Amino acid sequence: MTLSASARERVTVRSLELYYVRPRWQFLRVTTDAGVDGWSEAVVEGNVRAVRGAVESLADYLVGQDPRDVGYHWTRMYTDNFYKNGPVLSSAISAIDIALWDIKGKLLGVPVYELLGGPVRTHVPVYCHVSGDSVDELVASTRAAMDAGFSMVKTSITAPAPRLPTRRYVDGEVERFYGLREAVGSSCEFGIDFHGRATPALSLTLCRELEGAHPIFVEEPCLPENIDAMREIKASTTVPIATGERLFTRWGFRGAIEARIADVYQPDVCHAGGISELVKIAAMADAHYAQIAPHNPLGPIALAASLQVDCTCDNLLAQELVRDLGAGLIDNPFELKDGMIAAPPGPGLGISVNLEEVKARQHDGSWKSPSLSYSDGSVANW
Ligand SMILES: [Mg+2]
Repeated sequence: MTLSASARERVTVRSLELYYVRPRWQFLRVTTDAGVDGWSEAVVEGNVRAVRGAVESLADYLVGQDPRDVGYHWTRMYTDNFYKNGPVLSSAISAIDIALWDIKGKLLGVPVYELLGGPVRTHVPVYCHVSGDSVDELVASTRAAMDAGFSMVKTSITAPAPRLPTRRYVDGEVERFYGLREAVGSSCEFGIDFHGRATPALSLTLCRELEGAHPIFVEEPCLPENIDAMREIKASTTVPIATGERLFTRWGFRGAIEARIADVYQPDVCHAGGISELVKIAAMADAHYAQIAPHNPLGPIALAASLQVDCTCDNLLAQELVRDLGAGLIDNPFELKDGMIAAPPGPGLGISVNLEEVKARQHDGSWKSPSLSYSDGSVANW
């Protein structure tokens, strides 16, 4: 069935096309009989083939539907699966949701953010990743980001992390992050991603030891599925806690937000349920005095989709991005100015995807996350 109002001329989805795009992405193009295409990214990092299968399965339902009934299709795709949620299905639904919003905005001739209530800011603050094993390397990487216009960055603790706070490991991390703070002073904020690779016991010590380096937040101090462990860590430190890139849909975030395990939530528009779901998660976080800093290690379409939501949310801290601002893949790449990006004024997601370049950047979908071990050969979290 369809909910399309009889008063409007019917538009239907013709096809869903998937393209593997280097370095490790997969783009989705939804075509319609109205001559308008919608774009998004269909990815679980390290498992794009699985998402491809899930999108192809959902295409059986979507082809022939009116793409403008975005909310209905979201609920239909989610609810008709007895086994709901999870990264693969949620990412496939996210990809379709983003592409449908792109189509809807283009058909109406307005940016998606206009359909979400309009912008509450003219520019979106963004942050990028920096790295370095030594203090000097970390400072050099951060200074390069600052030279490129960033005033907020994120780095991570050394991997693999020990199971308990060994003196050697803790001293090493204290040296790195106090060294970074001393070098940049108050001219640059930095977050520290624990990457879910630390145990609660290690995190409790690290957060306390790093308080004097004043990180803007510590991210994923342990794997986020254990709400009690996260809450214990947050209660033990004054460092703001961030999490959420591995949580999915409003139901996945509900328990975390209600338990107040974090000060900053990081839903990923390509995993958490698309533009539709990001809006709901941001509102839920806002009602609990929490900020959002949407996760995005993906490409320019994911960034474009994130920005559409970012510019409508009062409780935005900053948007994560990789340094690639889309040159080549989109005809109107984003521009960074004073640590911010302007919300694109064009209809839909506001970007024009270069199909030839998309096709030219093909890969085989085999990229996997790094596989780490401890010195005794046992498995360590990446
Ligand atoms: Mg992270």
